[in-house]
Amino acid sequence: MLAVSQETKPVVSNGNGVEINSFHIAQQQLDNVAERLNLDPGIHARLRQPKRTLEVAIPTKMDDGSVRVFTGYRVQHSLDRGPAKGGLRYHPDVTLDEVKALSMWMTWKSAVVDIPFGGGKGGIIVDPKQLSKGEIERMTRRFAIELAPIIGPEMDIPAPDVNTTPQIMGWFMDGYSSLMGRRVTAIVTGKPLEVGGSLGRTEATGRGVTISVREVARRMNLDLQAAPAVIQGFGNVGRYAAALLQQECGTKTVAVSDTSGGVYNPHGLNVADLVRLKEEGGRVADYKDGDRVSNEELLELPCTVLIPSALENQITAQNAGRIQAKLIAEGANGPTTPAADTILHERGIVNVPDILANAGGVTVSYFEWQQGLRHEYWTLEEVNAKLERFLSRAVANVWERYQQEQVDMRMAAYMVAVRRVADAIHNCGTAY
Ligand code: GLU
Repeated sequence: MLAVSQETKPVVSNGNGVEINSFHIAQQQLDNVAERLNLDPGIHARLRQPKRTLEVAIPTKMDDGSVRVFTGYRVQHSLDRGPAKGGLRYHPDVTLDEVKALSMWMTWKSAVVDIPFGGGKGGIIVDPKQLSKGEIERMTRRFAIELAPIIGPEMDIPAPDVNTTPQIMGWFMDGYSSLMGRRVTAIVTGKPLEVGGSLGRTEATGRGVTISVREVARRMNLDLQAAPAVIQGFGNVGRYAAALLQQECGTKTVAVSDTSGGVYNPHGLNVADLVRLKEEGGRVADYKDGDRVSNEELLELPCTVLIPSALENQITAQNAGRIQAKLIAEGANGPTTPAADTILHERGIVNVPDILANAGGVTVSYFEWQQGLRHEYWTLEEVNAKLERFLSRAVANVWERYQQEQVDMRMAAYMVAVRRVADAIHNCGTAY
């Protein structure tokens, strides 16, 4: 069978019949901050668009001998502060506009934590759950080859994202290295330890969520001891956030979910058991010790801390009025729409935005990249201590803006980040 390249879908729905385009949201967020910062119109216009976009066909030999051609993208939004950096997503709903939005958000994320990267993102329109391990490996190797003209350790460094694992990063690195005729470990981050990965990278995003929640809660005088926490999504972000929040901040995880739905127990869930269940290939919906809730219901449960760590556009104008959390930290990228942001802010709910809350992953990716380039291995203590420093500093910078400007925390984070990127462009004196 020869599959035809799939059409890109410019607009997606959030499942409630609301049409939401993430790229338009990203542009709107930039427009709002540009006005506040009185941004140079040329720099603003430049940053509304990605710098470079590549669409590739990825012919892949399937186990039955047929060839399927998948569509993949890599978008580099900005290289102004350093090489593009950001993950690769394997998902059936990937669209070019989604990848463009995600690449723009990566630019702001690297800037807000002040690491020397620009923003990039990639993806393949595919449901990896329908492919065998061998098929995913061959597709990934071919993807690396197709992206080779625009990626490189000093140019653009991919990483894991939704449905992509350290193993996939290992195949990607090997595919690229074969083409180059030498081992290029710094081409990708989030690799397995054995091939140049960093200690602490796997749990880094969840650890970063924990640090940002702790730091913001402290400034809000919000007591987290035994405070109920609700986690949407139980992938690489959600499961570590659930465990580490409990361990380091004393919260009590009362609800978690995955694509199968959620489970709620006001007395607390056993996170270790849930992690084990998932590792054995089970679904959250199979967990017995709690009540079944849908992903939508889960967001509206009574709690102190809410961590949306699944996909985009989960908190919308429809449900923002019913959210009961006091503090939200966006483990996912883009889970809240601008209309929902306004409602949350008016209701006094603090929402720590994705570019800050989930920046732990890319920060440890930066450490992994440095280790690769310098041929070093850092200890877990070193990695975690540095992560702690970078994220605490970023929270302090954003909080200062937040206090000064009396805006919501996303706007404050954007003001810090966009200013840094604009200054980089300005100081190079380039024609944008
Ligand atoms: N995909 C992750 C993110 O959205 C990590 C990116 C990276 O490590 O480069 O931040």
